[in-house]
Amino acid sequence: FLLLIFFGNGYAQTKKHLDVNKPIEDRISLLMKEMTLEEKIGQMNQYNGSWDVTGPKPESGSNEEKYNNLKKGLVGSMLTVRGVKEVRAVQKIAVEETRLGIPLIFGFDVIHGYKTLSPIPLAEAASWDLEAIKNSARVAALEASASGLNWTFAPNVDISNDARWGRVMEGAGEDPYLGSKIARARVHGFQGEKLGSNTSIVACAKHFAGYGFVEAGRDYNSVDMSNSKLYNTVLPPFKATVDAGIGTFMNSFNTLNGIPATGNIFLQRDILKGAWGFKGFVVSDWASIAEMITHGYAANGADAAQKAVIAGSDMDMESSIYVKELVQLVKKGAVKESVINDAVRRILRVKFELGLFDNPYRYCDEAREKSDIGSKANNDDVLDMAKKSIVLLKNDKNILPLKKSGQKIALIGALASDKNSPLGSWRIAADDNTAISVLEGMQQYKNNSLVFEKGTDVALNKQTFLDEVKINTTDFSGFEAAKKAAKNADVVVMVLGEIGFQSGEGRSRTEIGLPGNQQQLLEEIYKVNPNVVLVLNNGRPLALPWAAENIPAIVEAWQLGTQSGNAIAQVLYGDYNPSGKLPMAFPRNVGQCPIYYNLYNTGRPTDKDQNVFWSHYSDVEKTPLYPFGYGLSYTSFAYKNLKMAKTSFQKGEKIEISVEVTNIGDFDGKEVVQLYLNDPVASIVRPIKELKGFELVTLKKGETKTIQFTLTDSELGFYDNDGKFLVEPGLFNVMVGWNSNEGLTSKFEVK
Ligand code: BGC
Repeated sequence: FLLLIFFGNGYAQTKKHLDVNKPIEDRISLLMKEMTLEEKIGQMNQYNGSWDVTGPKPESGSNEEKYNNLKKGLVGSMLTVRGVKEVRAVQKIAVEETRLGIPLIFGFDVIHGYKTLSPIPLAEAASWDLEAIKNSARVAALEASASGLNWTFAPNVDISNDARWGRVMEGAGEDPYLGSKIARARVHGFQGEKLGSNTSIVACAKHFAGYGFVEAGRDYNSVDMSNSKLYNTVLPPFKATVDAGIGTFMNSFNTLNGIPATGNIFLQRDILKGAWGFKGFVVSDWASIAEMITHGYAANGADAAQKAVIAGSDMDMESSIYVKELVQLVKKGAVKESVINDAVRRILRVKFELGLFDNPYRYCDEAREKSDIGSKANNDDVLDMAKKSIVLLKNDKNILPLKKSGQKIALIGALASDKNSPLGSWRIAADDNTAISVLEGMQQYKNNSLVFEKGTDVALNKQTFLDEVKINTTDFSGFEAAKKAAKNADVVVMVLGEIGFQSGEGRSRTEIGLPGNQQQLLEEIYKVNPNVVLVLNNGRPLALPWAAENIPAIVEAWQLGTQSGNAIAQVLYGDYNPSGKLPMAFPRNVGQCPIYYNLYNTGRPTDKDQNVFWSHYSDVEKTPLYPFGYGLSYTSFAYKNLKMAKTSFQKGEKIEISVEVTNIGDFDGKEVVQLYLNDPVASIVRPIKELKGFELVTLKKGETKTIQFTLTDSELGFYDNDGKFLVEPGLFNVMVGWNSNEGLTSKFEVK
């Protein structure tokens, strides 16, 4: 039967594919039967909505072309259009003015929140709290969907171990096991249990693949790596998103072993759509189809289009190459129509799953836009996430927590009053200066005297995404006032680090200390008052050997989003006991990068701790400043009784391992208990240690809990260079501990 649906101002459609009682695959087939080749290729075209889409029709240039193509039904998706009014206006063109009325899908970089911002993703990873991370993505989805959007270009699941790369702030750090768990949590947060409610948005795993390993951390650079590294380190978090039911993937700017990811048949066809059976669609990264020409992999637009589409790139983000070239390529026989049909089916499937055919305006709800964006509940949730993301790196002399009264506190550093930097990079929809600053957070604790001096500026210009950041290295005029304040204080809290736009896309750095003259400020203040608490704001691991040696307390507070200052103040004053653990090692200096715990043995002997440090530099200590998994608490935990029922297991048998953890300090607290495995003899050399389990446990003062881990083949095995998963019998070393470098050890055998 024919379903009659009224959209907007009286527009009516009578189309068989609108019959909600038919299965989605049938509805897609019915629709595709009606589509011309041009209309199909139109679905594969995505434009950036860079003009005022609600304003008058653009008269010339690329915006006019975009507008005309929209009207002709030659656009499948728009990105960065935001707000119900704008989304509705653009959707109306697609639905009411084109021949078939196919709704658009609206993409946006909702990376760590929409308007109410969560901590940057790297910071969230430090919580190791999967429920909180999932909830944070849920809040982001709630707000984005209330703004008319239904697709986020997140999560970024790029594993990276190079702090020079600015985009480490977008990922979950260096470890594929932790990264996979977090990837899954984020997909479930964005998409809900299943797509189809108007508060769910489609997630997009990016950047497929290898982007986190760009050479020397230089953004957009090439990636050359072994298959074993690809299969064991890079791909697992992507696979986890497919298993979690993710709707879309984004490919990547980089080449992988000489082939651009965008034109990579091995990645997109063989692995993603082949071995993994992914049913969603792949969008290119921004103009990455055109970039294949610059890479030296395609001769011209037609060549690039042909290579990208054959390799499985289904949608062209912003290069216009598909819409210009594909029709001719199909007519010439250079691209089979079946390839186009497959891409279009994938794109339409996601649109059907979102319910856009049933109501193209289901995300356009002005009432929700008013009530759900920036709500009290969302702010409470991002505050909770922010506290959980903080990592206590050092606390000598128990200088923290601060006393709640009777202390004279000097708060120093330009970042302490900065309401913009805590928002971090990738926060396109959020208004400037909307974060609670540390100053504002601390002012709420009124029984102490608080004096603020910025001491020095960090940035000299106002930055926006991708602008150059000009850093102050020469103006020392604020030092004297800051020193005077420090001298008169019992405790000095210094908030130092990177401004919000010093990490992120295009923000690779060769120096990863404190930018500008902040290091000098720190040392000068320490001379007049050594009771310094250093609060770090940063989007990547920093190398701070002097601070680690001298400053008694260091709090890693990243860029924590809208509620940053409240979270930091609550931790400083002990209203929240920090439990974060680093998701990425902190090096001693930039020359150590990349530095990570799960490296391979060399042929040289290992030291007594089984650490592979023969291969080292002779001018710096062998270890990182702080290893992966490191983080302290105001309380202390004791580990004992690492137990296994037996020490020899049959292949396939479950291996149960337990450990007792006791809170032996003076505060209630949380601990992340971490399990690492090592396979000392294998057909391909295995890392010296790999995280294979973790448990976030809450322990009251004096309380003991037994933590149970179960290992199966998926924890014991690994991928070989052909992508085959092997579980090899033999000895395994196990460590259960409090960071990747310290814990109780044992071993077992698998026969
Ligand atoms: C980035 C992507 C992002 C896209 C759209 C690109 O430059 O690499 O991560 O999703 O732009 O904004």
